[in-house]
Amino acid sequence: MIILLLGPPGAGKGTQGERIAAALKIPKLATGDVLRAAVRDGTAQGRAAKAYMDRGDLVPDEVILGIMKEALAAPSAASGVVLDGVVRTVPQADGLARVLADLGRRLDVVLVFDVDEEELVRRLGARTVCEGCQTPYMGRDPGSACAKCGGRLVRRADDEPEAVRNRMRTYRAQTAPVLEWYAARAKSGGPRVVRIEAAGEVAAIERRVLEALGR
Ligand code: AMP
Repeated sequence: MIILLLGPPGAGKGTQGERIAAALKIPKLATGDVLRAAVRDGTAQGRAAKAYMDRGDLVPDEVILGIMKEALAAPSAASGVVLDGVVRTVPQADGLARVLADLGRRLDVVLVFDVDEEELVRRLGARTVCEGCQTPYMGRDPGSACAKCGGRLVRRADDEPEAVRNRMRTYRAQTAPVLEWYAARAKSGGPRVVRIEAAGEVAAIERRVLEALGR
């Protein structure tokens, strides 16, 4: 099953994506994680992406399409994949459809995470992430240890208020149209689009998500 998670920054795509991947025993691809690892490792891709990411701007579509292509063609993605934050513009949605068609595959479902903006800003202000495995945490101090891998928890530079405001603007301008793009295609044989009420307890949201996936 190929599942695409759409939603604004802080909507819980990373947290729920991990849980869906574990429940369905398929990998998760998060372009943000791939890019942060590239920045940390100082690769050419990381050096090119860093300034965009720190400002809360989107990195160019060609970079994302390259990451998408490589990850989807990998043997580990053969039985499915959870795509977290991978499609953020209409050209990327179009590109994903073409990459999948070339592989003889298709997107099964688009899950749209709905949370109001006040809650998003609150969540991002309280978020730390593991420097190593990128697991997000709420309300855990920077410098404490990741429960999963023992790595150090840090604040993301783009979770600071100015970058958050820019990421929200970017979402409204460039990613919200992707929802309409998929909604239009759902009527003519495209992937199913399911909206998920993504405020409240993580476990309750997970139940809604798994139910939407028929689990
Ligand atoms: P995320 O971890 O998903 O919040 O992504 C962090 C940052 O990585 C974003 O603010 C963008 O700068 C960049 N990024 C991640 N995924 C994409 C994408 N699909 N298109 C463009 N930029 C992306």
